[in-house]
Amino acid sequence: MEDIELGPRITAKTKVYCLMGKPVEHSLSPAIHNASFRAMGLDYVYVAFDVEPHDLADALRSLRALGIMGANITHPHKTEALCFLDEVDREASITRSVNTIKNEDGVLKGYNTDGYGALRALIDTLGDLNGLRIAVVGAGGAGRSLVYRLSTLDCEVYLLNRTLERAKEFVERLQRTSRAKLRYAGLDDTSSISKADVLVNATPIGMTLPGTPVDPKCLKDQLLVFDMIYDPPKTPLLAEAERRGIKTLNGVPMLVYQAAEAERLWLGVEPPLNVMFEVAYKACRERAVP
Ligand code: NAP
Repeated sequence: MEDIELGPRITAKTKVYCLMGKPVEHSLSPAIHNASFRAMGLDYVYVAFDVEPHDLADALRSLRALGIMGANITHPHKTEALCFLDEVDREASITRSVNTIKNEDGVLKGYNTDGYGALRALIDTLGDLNGLRIAVVGAGGAGRSLVYRLSTLDCEVYLLNRTLERAKEFVERLQRTSRAKLRYAGLDDTSSISKADVLVNATPIGMTLPGTPVDPKCLKDQLLVFDMIYDPPKTPLLAEAERRGIKTLNGVPMLVYQAAEAERLWLGVEPPLNVMFEVAYKACRERAVP
């Protein structure tokens, strides 16, 4: 029988990577990483742990105790996890958000690959982002990570957030080292959305919350509307943009690219992106079937 039918062959030597979040049962990360490990011929397995916030410290300590080689951290633990790591890189520290941990002989090192994933997905779709006006709606971990990456480019970035103070605090912190022009505003600043070349949704609106994060009337001549959500693959925001003839991008490429960057950090090798994309799109197609 083919390996693919048997699934991963787990032995006493199998190395373990994991996801920690709550909830995790809908995550595509196990499918993507396990397919990638298999394609590289590695005796590694990736599992998902549903971790309550009050158990996070114990769960992270267990990485050392159990010799778990690396982890991804997802909602709602990305900020809290920073408190329990030995080292944190600049990106995770400035964005106050960690989504990848590497266990190096018991030293837990924290990184964030969400911004890389989102930026890479944008560049794949639009090419050069220099000179563009980009409105990012949502100053949570994912929104801050993308703005951090955009801050290295010669573009204009508007960070809009329901809680204005959160966007203000982050923009002011990043401003000193930013090449991009950074501005912040509340969600009612419809003019910065209308004027933007690219609109990005970095809120859960359209996934766990109904509706669109901005008034669809703001969708005019944008080059692209990018929704970080991948489940559903077409959110109400993307449907509205499509109806107006605007190019759209969902969260699948970001998901794959952030996963690939995590594997580069863990393993120091180039992962098989084609396999990772194939598995992610297949899983999305299967979910879309009622
Ligand atoms: P987060 O840290 O919890 O931040 C959530 C953001 O959404 C905050 O800015 C919050 O504003 C805003 N928000 C929440 N409810 C809102 C509402 N009812 N009205 C207006 N704004 C609201 O979450 P995250 O980790 O940044 O994730 C954000 C989105 O990106 C999620 O949909 C997640 O699935 C997606 N994501 C995708 C990928 C991928 O690989 N494709 C990776 C990471 C995240 P306040 O500050 O006012 O609370």
